[in-house]
Amino acid sequence: MVRNPVVICKATPGGVFIPCPVCRSGKLMRLYQETEATCVSLYCRKCKHESLIDIQAGDGLDRVTLHRPAQAGKQH
Ligand SMILES: [Zn+2]
Repeated sequence: MVRNPVVICKATPGGVFIPCPVCRSGKLMRLYQETEATCVSLYCRKCKHESLIDIQAGDGLDRVTLHRPAQAGKQH
């Protein structure tokens, strides 16, 4: 079984945020300890990619994984 790629979260004084999994910038969604979700869509305005992620509850910075690999080979 292949483990989905982990998206490392950003811990800031204002809270924990998920950066864009594609370009690694921005703070696309705020996470709380109780935040838990499956197949959430994150849209990055900077690189215009949509990413689907899974979020596990907890306080680790490695609790977000890509729901499926970012779309590859589809250049506009
Ligand atoms: Zn991006």
